[in-house]
Amino acid sequence: MQPHFQESESTHMVRQTVRDFAEKQIRPHVMEWDEAQTFPRPLFHQLGELGLMGVLVPEAYGGSGLGYLEYVAAIEELAQVCGSIGLSMAAHNSLCTGHILQFGSEEQKMRWLPKLASGEHLGAWGLTEANTGSDALRMQCVAKREGDDWVINGAKNWITHGISGDIAVVLARTGDLGDSHGISAFVVERGTPGFSGGKKENKLGMRASETAEMIFQDCRIHDSQRLGDVGDGFIQAMKVLDGGRISIAALSLGIAKGAYKAAVQYSKEREQFGQAIANFQAIAFKLADMATRIEAAELLTLQAADMKNRGKKMTKESAMAKYYASEASVFCSNEAVQIFGGYGYTKDFPVEKFYRDCKLCTIGEGTSEIQKLVISRSVLNA
Ligand SMILES: Cc1cc2nc3c(=O)[nH]c(=O)nc-3n(C[C@H](O)[C@H](O)[C@H](O)COP(=O)(O)OP(=O)(O)OC[C@H]3O[C@@H](n4cnc5c(N)ncnc54)[C@H](O)[C@@H]3O)c2cc1C
Repeated sequence: MQPHFQESESTHMVRQTVRDFAEKQIRPHVMEWDEAQTFPRPLFHQLGELGLMGVLVPEAYGGSGLGYLEYVAAIEELAQVCGSIGLSMAAHNSLCTGHILQFGSEEQKMRWLPKLASGEHLGAWGLTEANTGSDALRMQCVAKREGDDWVINGAKNWITHGISGDIAVVLARTGDLGDSHGISAFVVERGTPGFSGGKKENKLGMRASETAEMIFQDCRIHDSQRLGDVGDGFIQAMKVLDGGRISIAALSLGIAKGAYKAAVQYSKEREQFGQAIANFQAIAFKLADMATRIEAAELLTLQAADMKNRGKKMTKESAMAKYYASEASVFCSNEAVQIFGGYGYTKDFPVEKFYRDCKLCTIGEGTSEIQKLVISRSVLNA
C-alpha cells in the first residue's frame, strides 16, 4: 500500500532504504526486544549512519537536510516492523533535536546538533510530569536564576530516553504557576551533577522504546544552555508538538499498515467452512474499512507534512492527522486481531504487538481528547 500520487525520488529512496534496514536489522529481534523490554541503543548508531537521526537537520549541522515527507516515510516504514523503534526515532528527531533546531541560537545549534544528527548522542524531551500531563502548564519543575546559572529542581515523567538520553531539552517553570509565559526551555547534558534517570516504566506496548523519569536535584547549568528567551518555553513546546504530532501520525500509519497487510494475507490463507475467510463478506468489509481509514489517515498526514515543509501554520492540520491516524491505527489493529481469531491473540503473529503498540499513539504528544480541543478551538476561532 503506497500513496497514489507520485512520491519524490528522495522520499522513495528514503522509504526503500529504511524498509531494507528494518527487514534486516530490526525484524529478527522485534519480539525478543519487546518481551525483555530491551532498548537497543546500538541500533540508533546505525540509524545515525543512515542519516535517520538528523533527518530534518540541515547539512551544515551534520544532518540529512531532508523534509517532512521523507521523515514521514522513514517513521512509517520503521513502524510497520517495530513501533518502538519508530517512536524513539521520532522523539529524538522532532522533539529534542527539533526543539534545538527551531529555537536554538547559532552557537547552540553548532554545539548540540551534529552529535544528535549522527546518533552519537541520543535526545530526550521533558515536558510531562507525574501530575501534569495534558495540563502541562501547571508543571512543578522549577528553574531558579543564580548569577550566570540556573538551578533546576523537580522531575519529569514518561520521558522517551529518560535514562539513556545524552542531551535533554527540559521545560521548567521560571515564572508563575499556570502562566503561559512562566516556563523556559533548557538543554541539560547527561553527566551534569544533579541530573539522573529515574524509574523505567513497564509498559503495555512500545516496550523496546525506553520511557522513564528524569530527576533534577539542584542541577546547575549555565545560562548559555537556555533556549530562546526566558518565558518562551511553553510557546516553543506547543510549536515543537505541532511538528511532533505529524511524526505520531506517521507512526500510527505505519502500525495500521503493518496490521492491515498481515490481515489481508492471513484472510486469503486461512480457511474455514471449506473456503478462505476473505470470501466472507464480514471479513472483506473489515478490510474495506481498514483500507479506507488508512488512506484517509495518509492524506491528512501528508497534508500536514507538506504544510510544515512550506512553513505554513499547521496546528489544526497536524492535530487532525495525529487524531485521525492514531484512532485509525487502533481500529485497524483491533480488526486485524479479530481477523486472525485465536492466533491473533498469541505472540506467534505480529498483530498482537501492533494491537498493544498502537494505543500509545492516541495518548503520547497529546491525547485524542486534547487533539479535539486543539481542532475545535481552531475551527471556532477561524
Ligand atoms: C510511551 C510514552 C512516551 C512518552 N514520551 C514523552 C516524552 O518523551 N516527553 C514528554 O514530555 N512526555 C512524554 N509522554 C507523556 C504523554 O505526552 C502524556 O502521557 C500525555 O500527554 C497525557 O498525559 P497524562 O498521561 O498525564 O494523562 P492526563 O492528562 O492525566 O489525562 C487522563 C485522561 O483525561 C483526559 N483529559 C485531560 N484533560 C482533558 C480535558 N481538558 N478535556 C478532556 N479530556 C481531558 C485525557 O484525554 C485522558 O483521557 C509519553 C507517554 C507515553 C505513554
